[in-house]
Amino acid sequence: MRRGFFNSEQTKMASRSGNRSLSCASCGLYKDCRTPRMGPYGDNQRNILVIGEAPGETEDRQGKPFVGKTGQLLQKTLAQHNIDLFRDCLVLNAVNCRPPDNATPTDHQIDCCRTVKVRKALEEHNPRAIVLVGTIALRSFLGGRWKRDLHGINTWRGMRFPDQEYRAWVFPIWHPSYVERRDRDREVMTIWNQDIENIRDHYDDDLPQHKKPKIEIIEDLSILDEIQGGMVSVDFETTGLKPHAPGHRIVSASVSPDPNTAYAFLMPKTRKARQPFLNLLTNNQVTKIAHNMKFEQAWSMYRLGVEIRNLGFDSMLAAHLLDNRPNITSLAFQAYLYLGIMEYDQEVGKYLKSVESKNGNSHNRLEEFIESGGERPTLIYNGMDTIVQYRIAVEQIRIMNYDFLPF
Ligand code: URA
Repeated sequence: MRRGFFNSEQTKMASRSGNRSLSCASCGLYKDCRTPRMGPYGDNQRNILVIGEAPGETEDRQGKPFVGKTGQLLQKTLAQHNIDLFRDCLVLNAVNCRPPDNATPTDHQIDCCRTVKVRKALEEHNPRAIVLVGTIALRSFLGGRWKRDLHGINTWRGMRFPDQEYRAWVFPIWHPSYVERRDRDREVMTIWNQDIENIRDHYDDDLPQHKKPKIEIIEDLSILDEIQGGMVSVDFETTGLKPHAPGHRIVSASVSPDPNTAYAFLMPKTRKARQPFLNLLTNNQVTKIAHNMKFEQAWSMYRLGVEIRNLGFDSMLAAHLLDNRPNITSLAFQAYLYLGIMEYDQEVGKYLKSVESKNGNSHNRLEEFIESGGERPTLIYNGMDTIVQYRIAVEQIRIMNYDFLPF
């Protein structure tokens, strides 16, 4: 390593990927390009941070992002929608040194540059909106935080996410090089234009604000008797995916009577102690919300011996109706889409995975977690699920103009 070449930020080993440090020195791309560590560029008058993939040959030569042929396509389409890339935005890349032969950046290069440059730009500029141009930008922005499979840009493009950590709207869009390759495809051009229109129309919207959730852990379920109408969101935590095989049980449940409150409890052993909950499930006057209702229904019928009545709204089905792309209907994805939150299940989530992944009757490790002190985190997680479900349902109902429900 050349002494004195790196500033303190660049040599800082802020986090680790495997056993490799994340720094410019470790990435090494700076050695072979004309403009090493290209800086963010643009007047940023509207405070929109645009994150691309990596500089190409023209960018490397001129020392500015998005000035080559594909960059010009992005500039042009934005201009058609009244956004000037270099006047209104601040532009940087997921990887800010040109990879030799325009190779696709590796995960390690993305991780290094996130640590050294991208996070710094996010923190210093506090953008109003963040435009993620292509899969590499998506990996840069979400890769360190989203613990599940990211899939590609097609899963994300065209939506807008109210990211609560950065307090900014996030707009993933296709990379212009993809659009350029498909420029005779009218469908691609229509979607590309719509996605950019979406940025123009919504980058400055207020972000949704939510009250602090109130999760009450209860042992005596009689408080549930007070709920005699309106809507409740319901969720179970169970020992597996399907209730039928011997030994399976409902470990805990949560009920949210509004978008800010949850009553979470371990499932009582006796029918008598469960009765207020069974009454609620079977009460026709109370509309139920769940995310994948058939799961709750199957478990309720098989393990509680009651059929849930008035199944009013399933936020997983609604997600599918609103956008039928694959991989987007999970509660985790919908929570980021509508509420801008992610990974609230970090601690518990791993215990909910089946031990034998290909066996639908397999047990998970939830009971083991509860026995080793995980009771409270499980109940808090269960409570968060019903609050999140409720809040998502409210948004979906509003978008769908679904008017038989009471708001
Ligand atoms: N493509 C990008 O993603 N970034 C650039 O700067 C140029 C082309």
